Amino acid sequence: MSRVILPGSRIGVMGGGQLGRMFILAARRLGYRVEVFVPEHDSPAGQVADREIAKSYGDEEAVKQFARGVDVLTFEFENIPLQTVAWAAEHCEVRPRGEILHTTQNRAREKAFLSAGGFPLPAWAPVSTAEDLAAAAARTGYPAILKTASFGYDGKGQMQLASAEDARHFDATSGPYVLEAKVPFVMELSVVVARGQDGETVCYPVCENDHRNHILDTTVVPARVSGAVAKRATDLATRIAASIGLFGVMAVEMFLLQDGSLLVNELAPRPHNSGHFSIDACLTGQFEQQLRAVCGLPLGSAELLRPCAMANLLGDLWDNGEPDWAAAAVFAGVHIHVYGKASPFPGRKMGHLTAFGATPDEALERVLAARRALRRGAA
Ligand code: AMP
Repeated sequence: MSRVILPGSRIGVMGGGQLGRMFILAARRLGYRVEVFVPEHDSPAGQVADREIAKSYGDEEAVKQFARGVDVLTFEFENIPLQTVAWAAEHCEVRPRGEILHTTQNRAREKAFLSAGGFPLPAWAPVSTAEDLAAAAARTGYPAILKTASFGYDGKGQMQLASAEDARHFDATSGPYVLEAKVPFVMELSVVVARGQDGETVCYPVCENDHRNHILDTTVVPARVSGAVAKRATDLATRIAASIGLFGVMAVEMFLLQDGSLLVNELAPRPHNSGHFSIDACLTGQFEQQLRAVCGLPLGSAELLRPCAMANLLGDLWDNGEPDWAAAAVFAGVHIHVYGKASPFPGRKMGHLTAFGATPDEALERVLAARRALRRGAA
């Protein structure tokens, strides 16, 4: 059992995006001091931290100096180079362990881990060459999706292959890849699960996720599925968390099939966009939960207070100028979260809204209405 890091201690965060920002807001509420290490100044996380160090992740001396100045270090997302985490670990405790990063930073490793554990996955195979692709397609069939093995998120680095004809355009240079069968899912679900040092596990209610252009658009909680499906999803997430030795917060993204079975799409070993609802709608939000895990405090309850829905605010919403914040603020009980990013390019996650309702449908309706009200020049 590692030591407990108490309020007033100094937490280091590597990574400067919105996940770091929301983690830091939760940490500061509990009285922690937070320093953030990012490549560029005025990051979303840096804006709300006690101190922002803007240096390259490849700057070994800067990373080590940063690590020496904090009581514990955590990282914001899975794409911090492992080398950087290893340098930091020479000088301070890093939580969670770097090994989970190693597994989940690479789709092929992640899928191999899940397959070995007997967890249900879409048919898949690793691909480096055109010959591999032909062999992989024999396993997955068409349509299939070719995904880069590393550094892919929000559908980046993905190519849909409708037939063997499309596979002719294969370009090995951005590989290695994994090829996955395209799944005819009826719904996408996720479960955010937290696991403390003693193995205690807490699951958030199952999220129903709708993606647009491969980017999460809305989340409805609780997911509009049967109790049996919700239980299966929660059990699956709990078993994966134990099997990977999770310490902290992880999201398990899943596909629900027509027959009620579930396939795992991917793991994110951190608070997740689909869990943002929990900040406003649960007794303990996912970022406070991550904080508790990192600091060795007991986990909090993930109980949902009311049905709710979350809608992402992407850069596209800025097409006709700054969104009409006042118009969205009129909606009673809609929470507005803005991440402090300077450039609202299309597809970029700039913020999100959370709304409540007597039912999940009503919450979804309300959050979509509030988001429509934000758009300037809307009909
Ligand atoms: P990913 O980055 O792998 O999470 O993919 C982003 C989104 O693309 C998912 O949330 C799905 O909507 C879609 N997608 C990814 N993989 C598959 C698949 N094997 N079958 C069908 N849709 C997929």
